[in-house]
Amino acid sequence: MITERLYYIDSYVKSFEATVVSCQSVDGKFAVVLDKTAFFPEGGGQKSDKGYIGDSAVLDVQEVSGEILHFVKASLEEGQAYNCKIDWDTRFLRMQEHTGEHIVSGIVHSMFGYNNVGFHMEDNYVTVDFSGELTREQLDEVEDKANLAVYANYPVKCYFPDEATLAELDYRSKLDLTEGVRLVDIENTDLCACCAPHVNRTGEVGVIKILDFMRHRGGVRIFMKSGLDALRDYREKYKSVYDVSGLLSAKQGEIASAVERVLGDNDSIRRDFNLFKQTVAENTKDSMIFTENCGYCIVDGFDAEMMRSLANYGAEKSQLALVFSGDDASGYSYIACSTSLDMKTVAQNINNALSGRGGGRDTMIQGKVATTKEEIERFINKFIG
Ligand SMILES: [Zn+2]
Repeated sequence: MITERLYYIDSYVKSFEATVVSCQSVDGKFAVVLDKTAFFPEGGGQKSDKGYIGDSAVLDVQEVSGEILHFVKASLEEGQAYNCKIDWDTRFLRMQEHTGEHIVSGIVHSMFGYNNVGFHMEDNYVTVDFSGELTREQLDEVEDKANLAVYANYPVKCYFPDEATLAELDYRSKLDLTEGVRLVDIENTDLCACCAPHVNRTGEVGVIKILDFMRHRGGVRIFMKSGLDALRDYREKYKSVYDVSGLLSAKQGEIASAVERVLGDNDSIRRDFNLFKQTVAENTKDSMIFTENCGYCIVDGFDAEMMRSLANYGAEKSQLALVFSGDDASGYSYIACSTSLDMKTVAQNINNALSGRGGGRDTMIQGKVATTKEEIERFINKFIG
């Protein structure tokens, strides 16, 4: 049974009544064939429609060997007529995106002679691959022309020409078909073979925005949005720009240079801070206490780099260097250094005596201890000496 494709005749059918021709169980779902359908099956770069047949949700629609299979959640009765409803909001967005893509592809073809060699519709953007490279300036020109075609509100006609008419026409097509070719004719803009539903007039496409682009297989891949998706993207990005401009007290058009300035300031602050840390670590060397077997110090607010620099100094002067940084309330980080001792044993001793954890490599270990300054000093005097 050949299902009548309502979306070919009228892409604005949102609900319809259809009779179930067959319903078969497939992998926990049911594959339903209807006598007619407005559900577009995945194809031509566009995802399938979703919606309902009766109360049963339509999860996916695929065309298999010329037959349209509606994959639904709950079983449906063969021979029974059902009210069917497609998810119109999503479908209309896709019609806007798809007709927007045809407008852009037609303009690129007429301006530069490049073909659309790949088209993919994601949930809220579209990618189009062209057979030649394009610059940002050229894409801006394409974008202007595409939006002018929208303002002109040209009619969009979808039809099946007979063979003789088709032979006379110059149209864009990915496949070399001679029969059953459906053409989408956008007045003054594009003529292309396509099986998908489109809007009736270009004005319904709304905004067409070409976002990023990248080199792709000797040509270019563009990322674009049309219609409501483009509007929502603008809304979201405007909010970001508004927020950033407020945070930086910069005009909206100048936030990039304002961010550059902040990053530059950060770099110089980081450099100054590193120098300052080196100086503090250097000056703390004098306060290191050297006992018979080790050099140690207990400081506060030192980072690992500062502690390492102190520990290396201590290890040059003594058999073992111990550096602790922290306070009694939140505990201490430690770094220990030695070129002659077995540091695994040292780590075990520190961790056991001071409720700590940590370890490391042969000559240097680091960790954390949950203890007090007094306990650390007692440990050093009693066990290390
Ligand atoms: Zn198409």
